[in-house]
Amino acid sequence: MDFLQPASWDEALAAKAANPEALPIAGGTDVMVELNFDARRPGALLDLNRVSELAEWATDNGTIRLGAGVSYTRLIDELGGRLPGLAMAARTVGSPQIRNRGTVGGNLGAASPAGDSHPPLLAAGAGIEVASTRGTRVIPATDFYTGVKKNALAPDELIAAILIPSAAGPQQFSKIGTRNAMVIAVASFALDLDIERRRVGTGIGSAGPTPLRAPDAERFLEHVLADQDRWATGADLPAGALDRFGDLVAAAARPIDDVRGTAAYRLHALGVMAARTLTWAWHDYRQNGPAAGRG
Ligand SMILES: Cc1cc2nc3c(=O)[nH]c(=O)nc-3n(C[C@H](O)[C@H](O)[C@H](O)COP(=O)(O)OP(=O)(O)OC[C@H]3O[C@@H](n4cnc5c(N)ncnc54)[C@H](O)[C@@H]3O)c2cc1C
Repeated sequence: MDFLQPASWDEALAAKAANPEALPIAGGTDVMVELNFDARRPGALLDLNRVSELAEWATDNGTIRLGAGVSYTRLIDELGGRLPGLAMAARTVGSPQIRNRGTVGGNLGAASPAGDSHPPLLAAGAGIEVASTRGTRVIPATDFYTGVKKNALAPDELIAAILIPSAAGPQQFSKIGTRNAMVIAVASFALDLDIERRRVGTGIGSAGPTPLRAPDAERFLEHVLADQDRWATGADLPAGALDRFGDLVAAAARPIDDVRGTAAYRLHALGVMAARTLTWAWHDYRQNGPAAGRG
């Protein structure tokens, strides 16, 4: 097996263009498991760990540009206040060792429907910046996941960064597994209440062939919050709104029965998580106003 080790982003893109079959490796927490179990035998590995550009993050006009190679630990420590939803999800990933190595870029590369980054990225309306020697493009998270463990990357492309609006209101993430830590989600849900833009964002994990949004639930809640100007006043949610929101989230899912849970359980769990995260987020907003979510 060839081992390619570019020292810069330009070298990495050139190496990928010359060797489109080379498998990128960032933290290696997915790749090494696949190699160790002989689930994959790439002709070449493209090690991205010396590409310092990937390990940087920056802010630009309210948007965070998170380098694909920033570890979960750094994301939690350095961006927990600006990206609370993604940081909540990051805290549930694996163990401290996995969070020290694992990256959001790697989660996107693997594109597992159970990956914990995906629901908050969908909810926040994130974009995935990808590049090749041909140029750079930004793929909306909603278009990035194309099938079970498949994404929209062309063979010569690499993930450069994730573009995520800084939280403008409360964000929440909830994950159900078979135990509290070191667990792949049976189902997960992320909620983003953008008070400034009066936008509701949702993300569903582990309950469909890809991570999903729940557009009908988003429109319903936007309507509820516009009614009586709740966006501004933070007034009580009307009777039945939590249940209806939960039902609409569950209706957007397309789960299957598998070793981790049944489709019926996942649908039930999503309804519960949607109602709970909305309760938490609305409580947060009422306590802290528009600063809710900015940790
Ligand atoms: C014990 C254990 C527990 C885990 N628990 C969780 C969990 O709770 N939640 C969860 O979501 N995941 C979990 N995972 C899976 C894994 O940690 C995550 O998916 C992580 O985000 C992968 O990041 P990485 O940098 O290690 O990726 P890598 O393993 O390096 O790469 C993963 C995939 O992404 C591709 N890739 C990486 N970087 C790029 C790039 N810049 N451009 C293009 N492609 C790229 C690789 O080619 C590969 O296909 C766990 C794994 C282990 C071993």
